[in-house]
Amino acid sequence: MPNTPEQIQPAFGTDPERLALVATATRNMVLVLDAAGCIEWVNRAFEAHTGFTLETIVGRQPGDILHGPDTNPETVLRIRQHLHRGEVFEEDILNYTASGAPYWVHTYCIPVGESESVEPGFVVIQTNISDRKHSERGLRIAASVFDRSHEAIIITDHSNRIIDVNPSFSRITGYAREEVLGLNPSILSSGRHSRDYYQSMWASIEKTDHWRGEVWNRRKNGEEYVELLSISRVHLEEPGRYFHVAAFTDITALKNHARELDRAANYDDLTGLPNRQLLEERIRCARQHAERQKRSLAICYLDLDGFKAINDELGHEVGDLALRTTAERLTQSLRSGDTVARIGGDEFVLLMHDDESPSVYQSILNTVNEPLTFADKPLKITASLGITRYPEDDTDAEGLIRHADQAMYAAKEKGRNQFHIFDPGLNAHRRQRRNQLVEIANALEHDEFSLHFQPQVRMVDSEVVGFEALIRWNHPEKGLLSPAAFLPAVENSHLEIPLGQWVLKEAIHQMNRWREAGEALAVSINISAPHLMDRSFADYLESYLHSHPEVSPGQITLEVLESTALEDTKRASNVLARCQSLGLQVALDDFGTGFSSLTYLRTLPVDVIKIDQSFVCNMLTDDNDRAIVESVIFLAQRFDHPVLAEGVENTAHANALQSMGCNLIQGYGIARPMPADSVLPWLTQWRSTVGQSRTLPELEDTANYGTGG
Ligand code: C2E
Ligand code: CA
Ligand code: CA
Repeated sequence: MPNTPEQIQPAFGTDPERLALVATATRNMVLVLDAAGCIEWVNRAFEAHTGFTLETIVGRQPGDILHGPDTNPETVLRIRQHLHRGEVFEEDILNYTASGAPYWVHTYCIPVGESESVEPGFVVIQTNISDRKHSERGLRIAASVFDRSHEAIIITDHSNRIIDVNPSFSRITGYAREEVLGLNPSILSSGRHSRDYYQSMWASIEKTDHWRGEVWNRRKNGEEYVELLSISRVHLEEPGRYFHVAAFTDITALKNHARELDRAANYDDLTGLPNRQLLEERIRCARQHAERQKRSLAICYLDLDGFKAINDELGHEVGDLALRTTAERLTQSLRSGDTVARIGGDEFVLLMHDDESPSVYQSILNTVNEPLTFADKPLKITASLGITRYPEDDTDAEGLIRHADQAMYAAKEKGRNQFHIFDPGLNAHRRQRRNQLVEIANALEHDEFSLHFQPQVRMVDSEVVGFEALIRWNHPEKGLLSPAAFLPAVENSHLEIPLGQWVLKEAIHQMNRWREAGEALAVSINISAPHLMDRSFADYLESYLHSHPEVSPGQITLEVLESTALEDTKRASNVLARCQSLGLQVALDDFGTGFSSLTYLRTLPVDVIKIDQSFVCNMLTDDNDRAIVESVIFLAQRFDHPVLAEGVENTAHANALQSMGCNLIQGYGIARPMPADSVLPWLTQWRSTVGQSRTLPELEDTANYGTGG
């Protein structure tokens, strides 16, 4: 049945058509109920909104068709009572559409009847208030967020006066809401932050409407705390009107936790001292400071003596006690700003400012030494202390610790309870030597070494009896280097034997080349004492000569320098004797320069004695040198050994030697050491100069091949 004004006509008295039109046209929902509260009529708005058509609901009670899951039974009951009593009432009701969608209506219900000259019943007018209900709900939620939030919230106006705070604010700060309304949040300030800090905070809010960061504040009870704060500026619709919402949480506990973590990462559990990581950090800072302020630092590495024994024999408990006690004592002995760290089992490092006098190091040892009792038993601890100083030792934190450690080892070597100060010069020297050795190994690999040869002459017939092989380094940058420039580095290094082997082989190769060219020349080869004493020296030589039958061993002389390595004279004798049995000659080089010359002369099997050039060069002007030369020649004659004198620079030298009974000479007067290629041409020239007479020509140091020593 269509819903038309005619239908409600009977219900109204005067001008019913117009009134009916109002009821039909209004956006409000209108229902007409009979005296029992059953639907007689509803308007279009009702039909449209609820989805029910009049014909399907006529005669039913609204409560029966509009209810749903959240319908409040009390509201239903109350409405029933109003209707029953025929009262006017107003009520907000949650209804449901035909399809089950909830909506809120404000219901106004008036009973009608005789006074309006109509059948008794009710006119119900409903306004949809869902939107209002929603926003009310939103506000309620917002309010409960504000109230229940775990975060403290402060709302301030545009001049930053507090408009409202929530309960969490009071919980965290200790201030009640009433105490702070109208005040500036700066009442919480701890004074820990600079003006700049707050200025940049406000600058950010001005620019981006937002700021977030950590702030140290103070509670009402004076206690400081850290909060993670976020401030937003909220603009209202009217321009220039805004307020601030500041929300914060107390992160003090979190910070403390972080500090705990930091402790675990930077401190030693047993003693509570900084660990290695923190120590390095502190050294880095101290180093920068010291550099700026032109001050010194001392890094002291302390290691307990015999700590393992304490642990093993007395147990870990005592070991721990010893460590803790040492830690305490060291801490007490330091001045403020200094650090003591534990960086290993029984290893401590002290970082001290200012250059310390050695008395300070001794007093550190004394502190550790103080007697200690454990379970009524006295326990004495001593330590070894290694010290390095910055800036004398100008290296990084790790290097400083390493150097102090090295010095500590040196202290240990001195015995217990000692200290030792690191010598950076010595270390620099070691480093330089290491670098040089790397370079030398490289040179060996790239064939940068060569041999030069210096002739040795027999005066009676001016015959060249041999050549001494002398090593040179054709350095790619520095040019030709003499042995003094690189042999000291090689001495006692892992390269000494490889280099010696190279010389040995190269010299023999060269002899072969000359032999192939028709000259069987004898060669003297310098052999360092460690090379000679190397277990495999004689074996190697033997197998080499065996596989090179073209080489005649009698043409080879080994020049051996008297040296501490020959102190095991028994072994030295054995080796030399084996070399002689292979057919080689042995020369005792630089005789007279060492301390055990006589012993060697007596015990070592040698064929030739060489007098060092330093004595020969000066013998004409220096009586001492002349005496040495004379005695060496005399001794050699007594032991029946030929003598060869080096350093013959002129005829006067040669004549003097000859008169003393020395017949073999070598020196710049005859020729400087020369490259292998120059040897045969030089020999030809020498022979032609000497001529048939075989007398020694005038000797003058003119033959300079640019290769002299
Ligand atoms: P050395 O065995 O005493 O060699 C003689 C040194 O005296 C050579 O120096 C030589 O050039 C120099 N000399 C020769 N005649 C004169 C002279 O009339 N006046 C002066 N002032 N000096 C003269 P060089 O070549 O510099 O060698 C120095 C040292 O290096 C050698 O002293 C030797 O101990 C060592 N050496 C050289 N080559 C080798 C080698 O291949 N192996 C080993 N282990 N040591 C070598
Ligand atoms: Ca020599
Ligand atoms: Ca010499």
